Order: sequence, then C-alpha cells, then structure tokens
Amino acid sequence: MEALNAILQQKIEVAPGLCIFRVAPLTWELPKFRPGQYCPLGLPPSALRVPYSEAPEKPEPQDQLIKRPYSIASSSSQHQYLEFYIKMVPNGSLTPRLFALKIGDKLWMREKVFGMFTLDDFPPDKHVIFFATGTGLSPYMSMLRSHLMRDSGRKWAVVHGALNSWDLGYRDELVLMERFCPDFKYIPIISAPEKEHVTWSGYQGFLDQAWKNRYVDRAWGLEVNPGNTVIFLCGHPLMVSSMEQILIQSGFKPHSKRDPGSIIKENFG
Ligand SMILES: Cc1cc2nc3c(=O)[nH]c(=O)nc-3n(C[C@H](O)[C@H](O)[C@H](O)COP(=O)(O)OP(=O)(O)OC[C@H]3O[C@@H](n4cnc5c(N)ncnc54)[C@H](O)[C@@H]3O)c2cc1C
Repeated sequence: MEALNAILQQKIEVAPGLCIFRVAPLTWELPKFRPGQYCPLGLPPSALRVPYSEAPEKPEPQDQLIKRPYSIASSSSQHQYLEFYIKMVPNGSLTPRLFALKIGDKLWMREKVFGMFTLDDFPPDKHVIFFATGTGLSPYMSMLRSHLMRDSGRKWAVVHGALNSWDLGYRDELVLMERFCPDFKYIPIISAPEKEHVTWSGYQGFLDQAWKNRYVDRAWGLEVNPGNTVIFLCGHPLMVSSMEQILIQSGFKPHSKRDPGSIIKENFG
C-alpha cells in the first residue's frame, strides 16, 4: 500500500455532509495544474468511517488504498495546498472516511493531476457559462480564482443549483466576486424553497429552467448563442446529460479536441 503522503490542513463544513478540504503535501511539491483539473485522494480501508454513515454499497479492498478523483477548487497560483469541495455519500467507500478525518490527519494524494475540463481550448473572447449542481462547482472555483481578476473582455456566469440555500457552497466568495467584477454574474437556484427557514427571494427550480428562462442572457444584457459563448457542465451525470440535450436543441455542439464545439462537460459519476 502506498504511504500516506499528505496532511489535512483545513476542513470547513459548509452544511452536514458537505465539506471543503485543504490537503497539503508532506515532503514533496505540488505539481503545476491547469484550473479545472482533478487529483485523486485516498485512504486505507482501516481508516475510520463517520458513525452516521451507512454500510458500504460495494465490497471494499482490504490490501490497497481506496482512491477517488476530486476536482481541484483552489487557484493554480496557490502552491501550498490543494482545495477540494466534497459531498459525503453515506454508503460510499471513501467519503465517509474522508469526513472522519481531523485537521492534521494523514491521507494519500496523487502527485499528478489529470483532466481536460479546462478553458484551454476556447478563445479568450468567448463568454463562459458554468452550470453546476452541488460539488460540481469545484473546478469552476479554481477557474474563477485563477482567471477572473486577470481576465478582461469576456463575460462569466456561474449557475449553481442546490436543494437549499445552505447547500450553496462558496456563496459568500461568489457574491464578493460579483461585486468586484462587473463581467461576472452569480446565479444560485434552489429546488426545495419550501424547506427554507428564511424566505428565499432568489431563483427557484432546476438548472434547465435557468436556461429556458434565459437568466444569464438577462444578467449579461445580451443574447447567448453558440457563436459567442462556451458552456461548461459539471456534476451529477443525469444533470449533465439532460442539460446537454437541451443545449443541443438550442444549437450548441459538444466539444472535443478533434471536433471543436461549445459544450464541455465533466461527470462526477
Ligand atoms: C473527474 C471527477 C471529479 C470528481 N470531483 C468531485 C468533487 O470535486 N467533489 C465530489 O464530491 N465528488 C467528486 N467526484 C466524485 C468522486 O470521485 C466519488 O465518486 C464520490 O466522492 C463518491 O466516492 P465514495 O467512495 O464515497 O462512493 P462510492 O463507493 O464510489 O460510491 C457508492 C455509491 O454512491 C454513488 N455516488 C457516487 N457519487 C455520488 C454523488 N456525488 N451523489 C450521490 N451518489 C453518488 C455511486 O454511484 C455508488 O452507487 C468526481 C468524480 C470524477 C470522475
């Protein structure tokens, strides 16, 4: 089994089952990464699970680390730790163990990063819409933290869907970004407003409604189309595929290196 080569430097609870983890390397240097990429984390099967988890769905290996990929949320110009925004899956193998870690505990972090879910393929004059549910926001935080302040001319929007307002991680930071960057719009949308303790006066529903009702067009004051905008989709595979179908009907085309288009996606399942 590989050695545990990293340390949990910070753990911030956003809501029950939703945490921001900062993981620092122990005796090695973090690799350079491009905002939007991911890095695997791991723990041994002997690591404790949180008491409120459920029996794991799959049989777990006894002689190797349990590893899963996580999108990096921190800026690419920050070299001390990588930040991750993670949801606990109660019957999962790794997340109930990650959530049981305390600050200072050791874990494994891959010394390499991976992924093509970046802004690299798109010209700097194309506007960008980031659609996410839940922790699908994570790679966008890295892109915004790395690029937003240095970029000019392009418009940006985050459309973040969650069940309730308390599940909207990074909300304060995104509100602040919006205040300081006139070209950036933050559009949170919640799907269970009846459970709010304080009346929610923002958008309600699901991401497809945000698209059909043209919330971004209105916020930017222009017509979003495949010629002027790139759309990023990240999160639950069902959301990603249903949004992709809706966007295709609006004339957008999935992007690949060989066949450029204006929809790029990352599935978390
Ligand atoms: C490229 C990539 C980047 C990722 N980045 C992130 C990230 O930034 N944050 C994050 O929270 N997750 C992320 N994931 C998902 C992550 O890798 C794990 O799949 C997730 O944390 C569950 O791991 P687990 O071992 O606890 O559950 P597992 O033992 O792997 O799964 C148990 C069951 O839960 C289901 N399941 C898996 N994920 C979810 C989910 N999110 N909601 C509900 N059910 C689920 C599985 O399909 C399975 O049926 C990413 C996945 C990929 C492929």
